Formats: sequence, structure tokens, C-alpha cells
Amino acid sequence: MFNFSAGPAALPLEVLEQASAELTDWAGSGMSVMEVSHRGKAFTALAEQTEARLRALLAIPAAYRVLFLQGGATGQFAAVPLNLAAHGAAADYLNTGVWSAKAIEEARRLGIEVNIAADEAASKYTTAPAQSALRLTAGAAYVHYTPNETIGGVEFPYVPDTAGVPLVADMSSTLLSRPIEVSRFGLIYAGAQKNIGPSGLCLVIVHEGLLARARKDVPAILDYTRMAAHGSMLNTPPTFAWYIAGLVFQWIEARGGLAAMAALNRAKAELLYGTIDGSGLYRNPVERACRSWMNVPFRLERPELEPLFLSEAAAAGLMHLEGHRSVGGLRASLYNAVPLAAVEALAAFMREFERRHG
Ligand SMILES: *Cc1c(COP(=O)(O)O)cnc(C)c1O
Repeated sequence: MFNFSAGPAALPLEVLEQASAELTDWAGSGMSVMEVSHRGKAFTALAEQTEARLRALLAIPAAYRVLFLQGGATGQFAAVPLNLAAHGAAADYLNTGVWSAKAIEEARRLGIEVNIAADEAASKYTTAPAQSALRLTAGAAYVHYTPNETIGGVEFPYVPDTAGVPLVADMSSTLLSRPIEVSRFGLIYAGAQKNIGPSGLCLVIVHEGLLARARKDVPAILDYTRMAAHGSMLNTPPTFAWYIAGLVFQWIEARGGLAAMAALNRAKAELLYGTIDGSGLYRNPVERACRSWMNVPFRLERPELEPLFLSEAAAAGLMHLEGHRSVGGLRASLYNAVPLAAVEALAAFMREFERRHG
């Protein structure tokens, strides 16, 4: 079957097979990777290799620290303000959908003076703001945005220029889908369960110049500086998720790295959007220039057919095409681990469904 889930999402079959083969005897230890000390030689070597692999894939400059944390992207909604801004300080947020709205809500709760530097509510979150439309605040502690809105399927076609203010990006649903220029960002974070590995792990890539700015009362578990000083092992990390992420990085490397992922992801997205646009039954509401490569929401012109679409799709092995519970409709997520064959099968199913019901 093919899994189009938005997250936790499909993992590469080869990764699952390797994990399965070494589940009860990892690296000659006679036990699983879940049962060894995170401070032992074997696991610390794995942790270092995993970070080195990620650094190579993303060409992360030496001035950035990579943290392997817990608490998901939602934890970072709190960690970002607690680490980067004093209580009462101003920060700019770009509001482009459900996830940026949640980040905004948490920043406000933690006493940030949030300036909404762009708000796409008027388009029902089907657009990304143009650079020229951003109302940025001089002297803001940081600018926060969501490069890919996982629920709305809206993706920025550019990286905002913030005139030197640190740019913070929630890349939960787009990191590793293509090459990026890390030096454009002050901080990147991503929950693992979309494109990286299992849930329970959250990656943070932070410029070292942003460390040591945390509020005095930041909880240690959310403190970037302390986590960086302890190799992300201030406490017991999610070792199994860390291990699986390492296998995923190896899998990406073996397939040609992020340039190869980008080519594959572009081809998958073009095929699905082409199928939608070429039909009389399906439609995607997002402005073309900012359609997501990773998450493709769509509706049927006859919405009453959507439950039938989902049940027939599932019967054909095309799983988890339901939209987010907050918006309904349909959605196909096309992360790295979703093969082109999955999208070809989906496109063929959609044409056949339209022939019968359109
Ligand atoms: C999934 C997602 C989140 C929430 O992630 P959790 O790990 O569940 O906290 C936040 N932001 C974006 C863009 C997401 O896709």
C-alpha cells in the first residue's frame, strides 16, 4: 500500500527493513539500540555520525549548532521566544495558516509583543505574502515564519529577507525535501515525523550567535545553550528516533542527496497538480506560485463524494488521503519516502474515479 499521511508519515521501506533486521542485535551489542546507554561509546558514536550526516546533506556551516530535542515542533513554539527574546520584547510573525497561528499564540502567551508582519487570512490562507508586503519591525528580536504550511498546502517560493534580523523557520514539513541555504536562517526547527524519522524527535539548527540569549528562567529542557553544551544529552534523548533519523539520512545520501530529493519531489508534485488541474472533478485552492511540493490539499467539486473517494482509495491501497480534521476535504502528503509510483497510482485512481463519478 501507499501511505500519504501528513504525519507521522511514511518512512522509507529500506530503512524499516534495516531497523527490523537489526532490532534485536544492534551493532553487535546483542541487544536493541533502544536498550543501550545513551552515554555509552556505541550510541555516542551513532549520535555523532548522525549529526555529521545531516551536516553534510544540508551543507550546514560550522557556525551552526545542531540539536536533537524532544517536545516536537510545538515545543519549539515555546523554546524560540524563551531562548531568543526577553519578556515583553517584540518579534515579527508571518501568519500564513494553522501552524504559524499556533506559534503566534504560544509566543503571546509567553509575553512576546507579537507584530503580525503579514496575514494571509483574507485569502483563507491560500497565499504567501510577497517580500514587498512584509511589514517588518526594525529591531525585532526575530522574524518567525512557516515555509510550508502542512495543512493549507501553502509554501513560500522564496526565503524572506529580514535585513539582518534573525529569521526563524518552522520547517517541520519541508526540511530535507530539497537543498536550502542554511546561512539565510538564524534558526531552523522541524519535528521529525514528516520527512526525517519517527515522532518524538525535533531537530533544531541554530546559529551560535543566537545562543546565550535565553531568559534566566528558561526550563533546562528547552534551553538551546545548555543542550548545545551537552550534545543534546542534558537528559535521556529519544534514542530510537535518533537512530532511525540516522538511517533516513543514510538513505537520502545513497539516493543522491537533497538535489535528487528535490528532483523527485518536484516530479511528484507536478504529476499530482497536473492531474487536479486537468480534471473537472478536483480542485486545489492554493495560488499556483505558492503550492506546496509536500502537502497537496484538494476538494471534489461534489464534496458529498469525498467519503466514497476515501473508501475506494483505501480499498485500492492508497491510504490516509483525508484532509486535516480542522479543514476536512482531501490531502496527499508527498514526503521523500513517498515514491513516484505512489503518485502515479494515485493519479490513475483519480482519473478512474472521475470517469465513474465525475
Ligand atoms: C506537524 C507540524 C507541527 C506540529 O508538530 P508536533 O511535532 O506535533 O508538535 C508544527 N508545524 C508544522 C509546520 C507542522 O507540519
